[in-house]
Amino acid sequence: MSKILAINAGSSSLKWRLIEMPTEKVIAKVAAERIGQAIGTIKVVGNGFKVVREMPVPSHHEAVQMLLKTLTEQKIINDFSEIGGVGHRVVAGGEIFHQSTLIDEHVLEQIESLAEYAPLHNPAEAEGIRAFMAALPGVPEVAVFDTSFHQTLSEVNYLYSIPYDYYQQYGARKYGAHGTSYRYVSQRAAELVQQPLQDLKMVVAHLGNGVSLDAIKDGQSYNTSMGFTPLAGVTMGTRAGDIDASLVAHLQEKLNLTTEQMIDVLNTKSGLLGLSGVSSDMRDLLAKEATNHRAKIAVEIFVDRIVQYIGAYVAQLNGLDTLVFTAGIGENESEIRLRICQSLGYLGVEIDEEINAKTRGVEQLISTPTSKVKVLVVPTDEELMIARDVVELGQIESQDLKVAHAQK
Ligand code: ADP
Repeated sequence: MSKILAINAGSSSLKWRLIEMPTEKVIAKVAAERIGQAIGTIKVVGNGFKVVREMPVPSHHEAVQMLLKTLTEQKIINDFSEIGGVGHRVVAGGEIFHQSTLIDEHVLEQIESLAEYAPLHNPAEAEGIRAFMAALPGVPEVAVFDTSFHQTLSEVNYLYSIPYDYYQQYGARKYGAHGTSYRYVSQRAAELVQQPLQDLKMVVAHLGNGVSLDAIKDGQSYNTSMGFTPLAGVTMGTRAGDIDASLVAHLQEKLNLTTEQMIDVLNTKSGLLGLSGVSSDMRDLLAKEATNHRAKIAVEIFVDRIVQYIGAYVAQLNGLDTLVFTAGIGENESEIRLRICQSLGYLGVEIDEEINAKTRGVEQLISTPTSKVKVLVVPTDEELMIARDVVELGQIESQDLKVAHAQK
């Protein structure tokens, strides 16, 4: 047995899962929040225990030290040698990383060099990686990129219709996001419908705070709705999604904003929040839509943009076998799933409304036996995918794994 840490580092937070492999059992969820602020939080939650400490957490390095110490103090692990490997979610892998990669100094420098593609994420992730390399020397560290799943897109799908030189000189193209989620969900959906993923024309709708759609063909990402950054595509919690670039320039002038301020408006004050003026959270909007026009229109636009993208992807895939819902809204909001699917009747999509209404946060086929398209809910599990990549790339306790598989 080996214990793997799957890490998600933000600019002021570090979140991890400690996962036992090959059983894939989650042992603990661990988080440091408000790093760099006067008072931060250290949280460790597992089966039957919860430790929450308020204290200053000055940097990612200190956060890693404090969290590791809490793991041993709470006897979740006896010593660090039990940790077989560490996997890190990295937002931007550019065109450099087509798959998850074992980290050495050169790889770390490449992750840092991609900071201009994800200024809020890659530097924080690199700092998190450095902190773990210092705290756990000799333990394999693996980078798992949000973009790598989409490196299979063809030029036709990843190029923007702007001068080609800009792609060559500045990397101006679509990179997509949510790739680790799509990799997990598409594999799991194929298992659930008992067909090889390679044979399925599939659309996965990842509906969380960040929202994107992915068209999957031949087992690979064929097209995806996020773009150069996660700002493109459909309406999201606080992000605008697709918008005419001239309108952005027009508003920037009218509002007298810098480019950075304008992009911030599109990232943090738009989407469901900007439209409704009520909330970025779908639960709040569904609760208010009957009495609040702006909440109602926000939900309608949310559903409409998703329906538009699904239609575009069905055209590109030349058909659809499987439609999958995942992430906060996709897993929990049956009403949103229903409204999307009701607009897809022309494809032969038929939902079992009773089963759909009861499905929250669990794997479930929600289409009727006669539906031409199988519609599923599959809760995403990016951390598990990260842990699997660590085991594979780090060749961790391969003997133990072989024994475990032989015994199955
Ligand atoms: P993120 O993209 O930040 O990971 P989530 O996947 O947690 O976000 O999705 C958040 C969205 O999911 C919110 O709009 C929220 O209203 C919606 N949602 C609906 N039901 C739930 C639930 N039971 N738990 C979490 N989110 C939910």
